[in-house]
Amino acid sequence: MSHRKAIGIDLGTTFSAAAHIDDYGKPQIIPNSESERITPSVILFEGENAVVGTLAKNNSVAEPERIVDFVKREMGKPRDQFYREFNGRIYSAEELSALILKKLKGDAERFLKEPVTDAVITVPAYFNDAERTATITAGQLAGLNVLQIINEPTAAAVAYGLDKLEEDQTVFVFDLGGGTFDVTVMRIEGHNIRMVATNGDHRLGGKDWDDVIVNRVAEEFDREHGENPLLDLQSYQDLQSRALAAKMQLSSRERTAIVHSYNGKSVKVELTRAEFEKRTQHLVERCKTICEIVMQEAKMQWSDLDKVLLVGGMTRMPMVREMIAKLSPVPLGNEVNPDEAVAIGATIQAILLMLDEEEKSGEKMLPEETRQQFSSHDGALMQITNITSHTLGVVLWDDRQLEEYVFPMIRKMTAMPATAKNYFGTASANMPRAVVRIVEGESSLPGECVTLGTCDVELPPFLPKGSPVELVYEYNANQILEVAVQACGNETKISIERNTGLAPHEVAQAKAGLAALNVS
Ligand code: AMP
Repeated sequence: MSHRKAIGIDLGTTFSAAAHIDDYGKPQIIPNSESERITPSVILFEGENAVVGTLAKNNSVAEPERIVDFVKREMGKPRDQFYREFNGRIYSAEELSALILKKLKGDAERFLKEPVTDAVITVPAYFNDAERTATITAGQLAGLNVLQIINEPTAAAVAYGLDKLEEDQTVFVFDLGGGTFDVTVMRIEGHNIRMVATNGDHRLGGKDWDDVIVNRVAEEFDREHGENPLLDLQSYQDLQSRALAAKMQLSSRERTAIVHSYNGKSVKVELTRAEFEKRTQHLVERCKTICEIVMQEAKMQWSDLDKVLLVGGMTRMPMVREMIAKLSPVPLGNEVNPDEAVAIGATIQAILLMLDEEEKSGEKMLPEETRQQFSSHDGALMQITNITSHTLGVVLWDDRQLEEYVFPMIRKMTAMPATAKNYFGTASANMPRAVVRIVEGESSLPGECVTLGTCDVELPPFLPKGSPVELVYEYNANQILEVAVQACGNETKISIERNTGLAPHEVAQAKAGLAALNVS
């Protein structure tokens, strides 16, 4: 019997959290080695050490050049588009995320006093193929067997126990975190959680609210002293953390004051909640618009909803709650801590997946108590039906218009896993090979879509123009795309060659490289 221990991980833009199922079958947040329930997703490089969490965050003011934060926003980007260099070594977004995951894994092992082998990691519902692949790679680099990548709103619904309720219901998950915004409509029927529609903006989050305060204070500083305190990185970071603290205070208090010193001069700016809300009204409006779009995509009225779940620290803000309360007549779900819901849901899914694996293989991996206690809580494995958040297409040649266009293979909002098969004719006679370009996006113009990669298949000689090429797109439960091309009896099937992130042969190399670094 090989013993395994699984955890659920919410790998957040500003904060991350890990959870496990305890011996009593109850999901619990795992505190980090600083005894905190959430860990800032911030890394500080110090020689051979990578310090992750609050210590790194606190140092971000003193040593901003050795700090990395907001890595989640860079996930899926190839190395030439995003990298950070420390001590002569280049780190990709996956490697940096892997350091955060290593910290969570290491702290969990210290707390649980056993090795952590497996994890379910959550991602925003609108994460695309490259971003999901990069998240899996990050998990592998951290030495974790990634059981599954699940969407954050799905994890939240599981944490709220909505998968176990007797009545079917429609749920709206509003997730506003430090750096991302995500709204999802879900239908829960029996043990099936089905995503109906999803939308979001991964450049909208708490930081945008903080920036409004930062700019307000900087303006005042400039007015009084004729100097811009944001030009100095240290002063900027310092002001950012003051702004964040002020924003959080304004969630429970009517007014606050921000004091900022730079170059021996200082300012004090008084800020009331009313003024702050006025200055950030446009941000709440952006959230509202996305909520309305997703309801239209779901073809639903607000009165069709049974519950609204709030996820992400920013949903503690009164102006955000008021906006949602005005939109929707249904009560806001408050029972679960918005910072912890996603990690809790992920760990429940991790245990369910392992129970399922045990059942299929007959091999016992979980401690007997966990199995019994968990099964008694919930016998059946929850079924998650995700939908695609982007259209996946192929670039074809239009003979009449003499231009390239995008043919949609799997349309946005298709239930997953999804398979699409289609046939295309070769563009000219005697083509030596068919090159298939795979794109993601809603436009029919290739230039407006993101190229995911290309598939290249060799063709037999002397083929006439228009010879059939079979193209199969397969989207698996992790929302990772596999593409196969078959041409003219040539059985060659080729998987998509991604032009983003780390290639498989680079993963082992990167893993070895990261092992040389002490993560704490
Ligand atoms: P998350 O990424 O879900 O952990 O959300 C973190 C974001 O929520 C950050 O921007 C925090 O500043 C913000 N946040 C946390 N607590 C509060 C609060 N009480 N009031 C306002 N914003 C908060």
